[in-house]
Amino acid sequence: MKVIAPGSMIGILGGGQLGRMTALAAARLGYKCHIFCQDKNEPAVAVSAAHTLGAFTDYAALEKFAKQVDVITLEWENVPLEALEFLSQHTSAYPSANVLRISQDRAAEKNFARTNGIGTADFVVVQSIAELEKALESFQLPAILKSTRMGYDGKGQVKVTPGMKAADAWKEMGSDVGILEAFVDFACEVSVIVACRADGAMAAYPAVENIHRNHILAETHAPAGIDPAIANEAEHIARKLTEKLQVVGLLAVEMFVLKQPNKQGQRVLMNEVAPRPHNSGHWTMDACACSQFEQLVRAVCGLPLASISPHNRAVMHNLIGDDIQRWQQILQDPQACLHLYGKTEARAGRKMGHVTYLKGAW
Ligand code: AMP
Repeated sequence: MKVIAPGSMIGILGGGQLGRMTALAAARLGYKCHIFCQDKNEPAVAVSAAHTLGAFTDYAALEKFAKQVDVITLEWENVPLEALEFLSQHTSAYPSANVLRISQDRAAEKNFARTNGIGTADFVVVQSIAELEKALESFQLPAILKSTRMGYDGKGQVKVTPGMKAADAWKEMGSDVGILEAFVDFACEVSVIVACRADGAMAAYPAVENIHRNHILAETHAPAGIDPAIANEAEHIARKLTEKLQVVGLLAVEMFVLKQPNKQGQRVLMNEVAPRPHNSGHWTMDACACSQFEQLVRAVCGLPLASISPHNRAVMHNLIGDDIQRWQQILQDPQACLHLYGKTEARAGRKMGHVTYLKGAW
């Protein structure tokens, strides 16, 4: 396994807050970061040594970028596969294009999970209004129609309720391929973040519980308030997916905890995976010796992975849109660890920062 030593340049595809926090963690270990993104005002640019502005279809810019970095990772999983394949001809890039191919597509990731004995909500791929109409005949409502690609924070998702016309749901989803998915009446939602190196060394953070509002992550509670056997099942799923996908870097796995075991005896179903740092892992910055961002740097640079043991219990709140105006009040609380992403415009639904409240010894 190649070791990329401190002092080297890490290339990051995407300039959002995940890139920003990765760059800050990299700096702590003496690395520099070079961000490839579209706009110089993106959050990661301000804290990085270098940036290249360009589109992921600009191969001249991609090549120039690849030649200036020692290893490449990403903070946005919708990077086009062709761009990642092209970059990896010049420099090692993690995760691989194959991991992205699966994680970019909701149907592919669910099929991958099922092939590996991991449960998911029942689903069917639909490619037209007629196919959706037919699928709805055999689905109990409500069900959820999701675009297979480019969906995040609830975008491209429609809850199909009794009486709703297939054509209206299709239009609202706004894509030409979707999956119709059974509605899961879950007890709670959890996630596990796994770091993995090229030689297979792996470390998994404990399962945490996630609360979504308007389809956007609002809070993460660490640890999840679930039975240890269920937490083990969630961790097992996340480790297995990391191993089978051959992820180098991070894999975040979002899961539903069922109220009762299903027919296969499963209590935990996979919802989706993201091969990058994840919002539900931000608490690790303040409550663990090594954050998810530093683990990513360690994993892609071939350094030893650090302890995932938390020293504190924690609750993370996202600061979305106008929530950011509470920054002064948040700073009054000595247990609150405030992180702001340096975004100038607080649009509705936009993640502006987060705050982690430390809740005492783990
Ligand atoms: P996703 O984009 O798939 O992560 O969905 C965003 C959020 O919508 C999830 O975290 C859940 O809160 C909710 N959701 C998605 N799919 C389902 C489902 N099949 N059943 C119930 N809730 C869901």
